[in-house]
Amino acid sequence: MPDPAPPRIDLPSPSLVVLVGASSSGKSTFAARHFRPDEVLGSDAMRAWLSGDETDQSVTGEAFGSLHRAASARLTQGRLTVIDATSVRPRDRLALVQLARAHDLPAVAVVFDLPRSVLEARHAARPDRPFGSDVILRQLSDLRRTQGGLTQEGFRHVWTLRSEAEVNAAQVTPVPLRVDRRDLSGPFDVIGDVHGCLSELRALLLRLGYCLDGGQVSPPSGRTAVFLGDLVDRGPDSAGVLRLVMGMVSAGTALCLPGNHEEKVARALDGKAVKLVHGLDATLAQIEAGGSAFRREVRAFIGSLPSHLVLDGGRLVVAHAGLPEPYHGRTSGRVRSFALFGDVDGTRDELGFPVRRDWAAGYAGAALVVYGHTPHTAPRWVGNTVNIDTGCAFGGALTALRYPERETLSLPAQAVYAVLARPLPPP
Ligand code: GDP
Ligand code: MG
Repeated sequence: MPDPAPPRIDLPSPSLVVLVGASSSGKSTFAARHFRPDEVLGSDAMRAWLSGDETDQSVTGEAFGSLHRAASARLTQGRLTVIDATSVRPRDRLALVQLARAHDLPAVAVVFDLPRSVLEARHAARPDRPFGSDVILRQLSDLRRTQGGLTQEGFRHVWTLRSEAEVNAAQVTPVPLRVDRRDLSGPFDVIGDVHGCLSELRALLLRLGYCLDGGQVSPPSGRTAVFLGDLVDRGPDSAGVLRLVMGMVSAGTALCLPGNHEEKVARALDGKAVKLVHGLDATLAQIEAGGSAFRREVRAFIGSLPSHLVLDGGRLVVAHAGLPEPYHGRTSGRVRSFALFGDVDGTRDELGFPVRRDWAAGYAGAALVVYGHTPHTAPRWVGNTVNIDTGCAFGGALTALRYPERETLSLPAQAVYAVLARPLPPP
């Protein structure tokens, strides 16, 4: 029999890593082996720091308060943080999941579910633990009773180590969050809301120097296209735009973000009830006409798209509807919602459209943020942000931003494919 593969723990980074296990299950040993000292916050270490004695239960309340405050400060900085405490009860973990969520970072759990005999033997050999083994047995039973609910509690990943051998063989690798592509430095051609305007998209790509050979698209040397989402609806050929962009993404010549229209297509493909407005009925009919394999590919493609991307060493951020600086490079429900739908609070205007606050007016971040979502008659620069949705489907234009050149290129629409309830506003 070959040895079983060592447990691989691909840790999203940054995240809040919660070690879960009874006393003596090897959490602190594991933490010391796999993490830098500054990354680990331990309840024992906090007790020691407060009172000089890591087993002094009289300072336990303050120790956890300090631990949470220290974790919060690190997560504000976007630093990987490991919590070394037993965390065997849901109520202990709840505060940690909430903390991670408040910082828009994932919480993940590494569970030490070792045999009782191992824990008892280790405990008996430890002079520094002035409590009976009944304490450990209670912790073990709390763990075993509740570990099945960890995902439900909000942990994005859960890895469970079930023996000393597994703990010692585990390979821990930090993996950047999906939204973090600072390693890509471009140059980029960022393309605004296409909305089914395939012919205009092909023309724009040609003008940008891309070679189009049937379905194959080759960028000019070294360049990468970045699609800001809302590929579909309103215009004449949403399926054609999806095919072209999906081909480029799988060939590695484009990156793509989801827009609110892709989100709605995904919900419709999942069988959820959605209103068939703004051309969604035509989009769905085109996808169905492409056959069941194409339908599956489209659904998988939309599901694979990151809410936003941080590029070029953090100097460029792209998001369909824009993104304020505290959300850059982070991942949570509210980050995704902002990136797809913008700064909305559920209120609607006199025409029934969601009121979108102008997030860009308050943006003072260091990264250039390129976005779309709300059409204007021309690219709209506000501070270090630019909206390049120029309403192609409404008879406006399709716009690209060349980066790092910071030049925009707009090609006029070949027709008016959809009527906007009010004229496009000037930038
Ligand atoms: P924690 O209470 O979960 O943080 O557990 P520790 O990491 O402090 O480990 C508890 C005790 O078990 C310590 O005395 C460690 O030296 C010992 N220990 C930890 N890992 C191993 C291991 O893999 N093998 C053996 N034999 N002892 C271990
Ligand atoms: Mg410990």
